[in-house]
Amino acid sequence: MFTPPTESAVDRFLRYVRIDTQSTEDGKATPSTEKQWTLARLLAEELRQLGVEDVRVSEFCMVYASIPSNMPNGDVPVIGFLAHVDTSPALTGAGVEPVIHANYRGGDIVLPGDPSQVITVAQNPDLATLIGDDIITTDGTTLLGSDDKAGVAAIMTFVDLLRRNPEIPHGTIKIGFTSDEEIGTGIDKFDVEAFGAELAYTVDGGELGEINDETWSARLATITFAGKSTHPGTAKGVMINAIHAFAHFLTRLPNDMLPETTEERVGFVHPYSGVADVEESNVKVLLRDFDLGGLDAKESLVRRLAAETEGRFPGVRIRVDIKEQYKNMKEVLKDHPELIENALEAARRAGVKPFMRPIRGGTDGSKLTFRGLPCPNIFTGGHNFHGKLEFNSRRGLERTTETLMHLAQIFAESRAMSGR
Ligand SMILES: [Zn+2]
Repeated sequence: MFTPPTESAVDRFLRYVRIDTQSTEDGKATPSTEKQWTLARLLAEELRQLGVEDVRVSEFCMVYASIPSNMPNGDVPVIGFLAHVDTSPALTGAGVEPVIHANYRGGDIVLPGDPSQVITVAQNPDLATLIGDDIITTDGTTLLGSDDKAGVAAIMTFVDLLRRNPEIPHGTIKIGFTSDEEIGTGIDKFDVEAFGAELAYTVDGGELGEINDETWSARLATITFAGKSTHPGTAKGVMINAIHAFAHFLTRLPNDMLPETTEERVGFVHPYSGVADVEESNVKVLLRDFDLGGLDAKESLVRRLAAETEGRFPGVRIRVDIKEQYKNMKEVLKDHPELIENALEAARRAGVKPFMRPIRGGTDGSKLTFRGLPCPNIFTGGHNFHGKLEFNSRRGLERTTETLMHLAQIFAESRAMSGR
């Protein structure tokens, strides 16, 4: 057991979730919203109060901090821990009122601010593992922001614990809090070199024990249908309505290859946004697969359907643009097995049963990994991200924090044992 922190992970969490840090897809700069600064600056100030000397906030709202090694021979790898300050653009993060359901006895949880919002046992079988825990939900009108303020609170409490438990050996620890994770762009402004870690973890995962070393490989397809607009009263033989080609193309996407019909390791194509217009229609389609071969096949499919559609609608010109988004980090992480082995062991020591799960999404870690900082993702105890039914628990936050403590210690031990 560790000497307790000056402030519990739960109390920290409850403070941070009340600070609105929602990011937006419409922003041009990083951070996309000014309000992310509020939490970033607060975290920098609190790190200083915890005695961390080397703290700075960059012009892009990234917090960097460094905690020196307390080992006599400093040959322990420099480990980084990252979490993001922003919350999803999908749902408001203003006026978050966390509700604690103390000593949960089982059954569905009705959210008090909107009784139509119910966390059901049927849809959340994990609730069975939370009997006796204190579950933290929203009041039903906002998201909770456990994604990723649970990660932020766990890392801050971890820093607090390191200070309160100076006898626990650890190497140099780097702390990073990032902006605009939810819109996928913030991490591009994160300075990996200045951060200075050799290996890192994002603390941005789901239920207790879940460790992710695999993400999608991801591309974005934009399909543009060009027609010809004219006054409909005199359109005979002249108008070429791109909307018909656009609609035809959409119906040709295979039904069994969509997000709503796939799970686990099966990839998808996902038309998620578009414009229907006579002169020019377009649709954006996410292509996702864990396997690069599978991703290539989905790209070929989209190109083939576009070509077929063009053949069926004379006069309509169809263009397919493909953009690489991120790649499966497993390709790199397989060469750093200690990252996963140590995370599994740390979770066990914290009393958590760890398991691996591929993420049907991307993480900041995917990009960091390919920029030279190998970075799997570990749990935070959170559930139902980006929605009103989001929740976490006391045990979720505490065990996550303890896992970070054990991780730091295990890296220090394993280097000592290897005789270096
Ligand atoms: Zn997140």
